[in-house]
Amino acid sequence: MAQDRPDLAIDLRQEAGRVIAALESWRDTFGAFTPAPENGVDADTWSQTLDTFIDRLTGEQYPFFHPRYAGQMLKPPHPVAVVGYLATMLINPNNHALDGGPATAAMEKESVARLASMFGFDSGSGHLGHLTSSGTIANLEALWVGREERPGAVIAVSRDAHYTHKRMGQVLGVEVVEVDVDNVGRMDLDHLGDVLSAHDVGTVVATLGTTGLGAIDPLADILPLARAAGSRVHVDAAYGGFFALVADDSDSGVASRHFDAIAQADSVVVDPHKHGLQPYGCGAVLFADPAVGAHYRHDSPYTYFSSDELHLGEISLECSRAGASAAAFWLTTEVFPLTSDGLGRVLRPGLRAARRMHELLGQSQVWQSVQEPELDIVGYLTRDRSASGIDRDCVALFHALAELPREEQWHLATYSMSIEDLTRRGIALDADQDRVRILRSVFMKPEHEFVIENLVEVLEATHQRTLRA
Ligand SMILES: *Cc1c(COP(=O)(O)O)cnc(C)c1O
Repeated sequence: MAQDRPDLAIDLRQEAGRVIAALESWRDTFGAFTPAPENGVDADTWSQTLDTFIDRLTGEQYPFFHPRYAGQMLKPPHPVAVVGYLATMLINPNNHALDGGPATAAMEKESVARLASMFGFDSGSGHLGHLTSSGTIANLEALWVGREERPGAVIAVSRDAHYTHKRMGQVLGVEVVEVDVDNVGRMDLDHLGDVLSAHDVGTVVATLGTTGLGAIDPLADILPLARAAGSRVHVDAAYGGFFALVADDSDSGVASRHFDAIAQADSVVVDPHKHGLQPYGCGAVLFADPAVGAHYRHDSPYTYFSSDELHLGEISLECSRAGASAAAFWLTTEVFPLTSDGLGRVLRPGLRAARRMHELLGQSQVWQSVQEPELDIVGYLTRDRSASGIDRDCVALFHALAELPREEQWHLATYSMSIEDLTRRGIALDADQDRVRILRSVFMKPEHEFVIENLVEVLEATHQRTLRA
């Protein structure tokens, strides 16, 4: 049985060599041709330039790959994705049109079908969706479709949602109304009710996993309110979407209710370049009603000539897009299927890490957790009484840990909160300034699970040493 064998750790050098060799053999089957001398480079210049390049690339670079990088939403792609991307990049297909890359267009459609099935978008009348360059573009498309479906109506979005929604509202010329959040950063249902009565809301945006603290908007309760008001519901699950795979109410998973409700929404966005193990350049948008494809209709004299089938470029706002992104995601989801035991297994350690951190901070005399984590993101701060004291100590610690010798460094992130938002979380403090920078860690890598105890020890020791000095 597969479980009895140790899993293969992908050796990138070996596998990269393997796909380059395979691509070279493929090229050879078309026969030799004369390479253009113009593409050659001077050997000495190249060697020196490459050295300089590697120095610049690594010189001031934070170690995203290391478990002691526990700051922002940053980590390298899985080696499987790198192999898929590299092999495809050597061909460089463009998923705008089938002619640009028949194989990678097919892989994109299969990958999107896998996402649709993860979200329960695969029943009923089908779905429409495609990969994008980012969550930003994916959300823009969903808000644009919302505007076309409900011209003149406003967008309602929580004030802890990603700033992209406000900005894209501006781009689209659609007013964006902010909905308040509750004590843990989830969309406030009472206030949503008020917004729905006071405005003609075309689209309610629910965030499943806010970028700041990973809060889950109560989608299952938002849906009936929005439907009663005749509003569309768009789910921004750019960060949190893949946690649908572990939405099983278990100790190492997340609560299922709001993730299950994604199936009832009109559209959903997820970023494979966040929790789908991909390199940047891979977002996705899915619509429950394939008929919204009509809004994308356009005529291009350039691109479509070899097929009667719907091209991805006919259902996308972007034109050229890396076929390599689709190929890498397809290959990754072949070996890490979008199931609880597949990619879900890679997500659970981060959840356990965040919960353990919250628990340890609860026992600390010096540190406290800002709230119980819903996903793999933890916010934390000192137990000082004054806003200025907390801000000063958190920022000092952030710098102190990043400036240690390389083998001891920790890289965390800071996160700015208002006094009001801290007070609502039961953190009483003297408001001697308006905002407080606290610390924040996104535990995106499964390796984080093994370093939490050490992180909390280091936080306590450094607090004693640095801040009492
Ligand atoms: C990251 C993120 C975005 C923006 O996506 P990009 O891929 O960075 O463009 C939007 N919404 C949420 C909730 C996010 O976490």
